[in-house]
Amino acid sequence: MGTIDSNRFKVTCPKCGAIESVAVHEKGSAYGASWQSGPELKAFKVQWEDKGSSGPFVVSAQCRVCAISATIVGP
Ligand SMILES: [Zn+2]
Repeated sequence: MGTIDSNRFKVTCPKCGAIESVAVHEKGSAYGASWQSGPELKAFKVQWEDKGSSGPFVVSAQCRVCAISATIVGP
């Protein structure tokens, strides 16, 4: 048991240079694996998409300060 997989994303704002990293983990158990849901980020408004067994992915992010689309680097 424990963390058996994870998705990591780095979100950056091209205007103000804000940067934030986030990771979601898959937890295994005797009954199967389940993913954490995507958390809120401090600097960005993030849209998560649940891709089933692949877990949640960041599909879009917007800087809370600049209100522009952020750059997402993910798996
Ligand atoms: Zn910004």
